[in-house]
Amino acid sequence: MCIPYPLPLTPYPFHLKPEARSPKPEASLSDGLTYLKGVGSARAELLVRLGIRRAADLLFHFPRDYVDVADIRKPEDLVEGQLQSVLGVIDSFERKQTRNGVMLAMGMICDGGGYIRAFWFNQLYHAEQMFGGRRVLMTGKPKWDNFKNCLVFMHPKLTYLADDSGFRHQTSDFRNEDEVSDANPEAQSPKPEAFPIEPMQPIYPLTEGLQQHHLRKIVRNALPVYVPLLDEVFPESFLTAYKLLPIHEAVRKIHFPESTDALDAARRRFIFQELFLLQVALAIRRLQRQTTLKAPAIELSPKIDTRIRKLFPFALTESQEQVIREITGDLRHPIPMNRLLQGDVGSGKTVVAAYAMLLAVAHDYQVAFMAPTEVLARQHLRTLELMLEHSRVKIAPLFGGQRPAERAKVLEDIASGNAKIIVGTQAIIATEIEFHQLGLVVIDEQHKFGVRQRAKLKTGTGFDPHYLVMTATPIPRSVTMTLFGDLDVSIMRGLPPGRRKISTYLAEPEQRGKWWDFVRKKLRDGRQAFVVVPLVEESENYDARSIKETYDALTAGPLNGFTLAMLHGRMSNDEKAKAMYDFRTGETQVLIATSVIEVGVDVANATLMTIENGERFGLAQLHQLRGRIGRGSHPAFCTVFSDVAHKPQNEDALARLKAFVETTDGFKLAEVDFELRGPGELFGTQQHGLPPFRIADLARDREVLFEVRQVATEMVRNDPGLSQPQHAKIRKQVLARYGKVLELGDVG
Ligand code: ADP
Ligand code: MG
Repeated sequence: MCIPYPLPLTPYPFHLKPEARSPKPEASLSDGLTYLKGVGSARAELLVRLGIRRAADLLFHFPRDYVDVADIRKPEDLVEGQLQSVLGVIDSFERKQTRNGVMLAMGMICDGGGYIRAFWFNQLYHAEQMFGGRRVLMTGKPKWDNFKNCLVFMHPKLTYLADDSGFRHQTSDFRNEDEVSDANPEAQSPKPEAFPIEPMQPIYPLTEGLQQHHLRKIVRNALPVYVPLLDEVFPESFLTAYKLLPIHEAVRKIHFPESTDALDAARRRFIFQELFLLQVALAIRRLQRQTTLKAPAIELSPKIDTRIRKLFPFALTESQEQVIREITGDLRHPIPMNRLLQGDVGSGKTVVAAYAMLLAVAHDYQVAFMAPTEVLARQHLRTLELMLEHSRVKIAPLFGGQRPAERAKVLEDIASGNAKIIVGTQAIIATEIEFHQLGLVVIDEQHKFGVRQRAKLKTGTGFDPHYLVMTATPIPRSVTMTLFGDLDVSIMRGLPPGRRKISTYLAEPEQRGKWWDFVRKKLRDGRQAFVVVPLVEESENYDARSIKETYDALTAGPLNGFTLAMLHGRMSNDEKAKAMYDFRTGETQVLIATSVIEVGVDVANATLMTIENGERFGLAQLHQLRGRIGRGSHPAFCTVFSDVAHKPQNEDALARLKAFVETTDGFKLAEVDFELRGPGELFGTQQHGLPPFRIADLARDREVLFEVRQVATEMVRNDPGLSQPQHAKIRKQVLARYGKVLELGDVG
């Protein structure tokens, strides 16, 4: 699906079919596609598949890439390592099986003589489009090949020209040109020096049946007609102040930039605009929440503070104190707290949450404490029960497997106000529970919260509850500013005193023997160990099997004589609870698990972790896993096995594993991960119910985001309803794009 961006001002009805052509006196941005030159009804159908229904959509169907054809050379003039192009026809190509995969080799006869070779490694899809005699423009950085004693291209970009007549003999601009038909490639063989007409060729996202040159031609024709009709959203002073290209120039240049600088300028304008609209929407939403929603005001007194602290067996760290100050600062206002507490694995978030919960309970409010899994919820239940052993505070567990009578009793206790702290999984608590006086909701290890998270709970007070959301997944700052943009963020750095450093190793299969020797020694000393096997998404059965195989191999081999057990997703909740219980009590010495142990499991005596096939885990996941050890006073050791060093195509995995070994700082790892992979699934916009970004990228465009955030906050502070005339268009766009998803209601 395509959300029109940044036009039109009102959303299009998506079901609309392209309209039939009829004489039309004046062009309009909402023109159906068949009004466009070069678009008949067949092509219009193809464009609809790309989400293009109107002229305006076409203008905002941005290229996904460009071929820089500025430097076309003959093979003998190529320079090693610089971005250059050659032009000619494919002579031949072949696939070769090599030790590490399949190599595609292509030879090309260049215009004006000369021959050049190109290679792709494990990118066979290139071959699908190749045929001998096909005309291509090849762009890349040539490399010296010591065997062949000549320059070759490795993984160059190919633009097919035989049926891609974006290239013309004469110089011309996009306003007046007639397409060269797909004729015999030889016949239109252009002379290299006649190039280029468009120094950067746009590469559009396509759909089957539509060729690059079709779309380029359609866009070329549409720009002069429709660009002048586009409305500028930003006041002129704004454009000047933030160095933004005016909309007309920006649209033209993003399709046909004359240079990379021009392209950067055009992109900046759209990236800025896209991020800005969201930041304005978030600022408005925040303001609205502060002015319309009410929550109970919960004051901290010295007496309550002393009473709570007595329950902790240790002094709080400075980091914990700081976060508690931030939380109590929120709770005393009658505005619902919406705070995200980020703290590395083991940094002591639960204690901070417990403080907030006990404060609410001291004022006779109820608290809902939710965790993503039952294993984790039960662990929290135990922690709280221990802490409150000698108090009268009643804790109510709410789990999926409870018998109806038991559940009815719990629900009754909740409704009567008898139960003060309700602990369970999120799915359970989010249902239709009637609270007596719910004041605070704490959500642990939640990754999918963000701007749409607040559920409508029956609090029993007529007020909204305060929210505290905790995560050990370190979230890059650019993500907290956008996807979680209406949350206040507290960060806990460092670990409580007495924590041991976790020594981490990346090991090769040959080193197994030595590692298991070490593990056996530690097990004999009384320690416990995890062995983690990757999850295979496609088949849970397969997981169970691979776990079982590992279990059998270890039982029969290196860990013979020790007690081993398994923990994986195919087991029932009871089986899982039993496996955890046995491990916690020391009954089981080695737990072989999938990443189900990733969150929150806290067994201080477990100091060893073996991770198999490390390349199959994400960096955040590896870090979470490692956080399961090093929780007690004994030194901890984590070894990752992977054969990744022998697979050159697995560069990213190797970079991940190296970073993992180098640091135990989750925040550093998060930034590395973000740079390697971009926002990924966890932090994608759709996960948070927001329309996808069309052009902005939170990893790449951090600097723009930080700038935009300030500008937007300032604008909303000075003009909360965006009611000043110069902001009217911005307001309209914000509402069109985010009004509904962010429930902005009637601004101003
Ligand atoms: P996480 O942030 O991963 O949820 P926890 O709250 O589970 O971390 O804390 C990890 C461990 O550290 C727990 O065993 C907890 O009792 C202990 N802990 C927390 N705060 C302190 C402290 N200030 N001093 C000593 N130990 C602490
Ligand atoms: Mg925790």
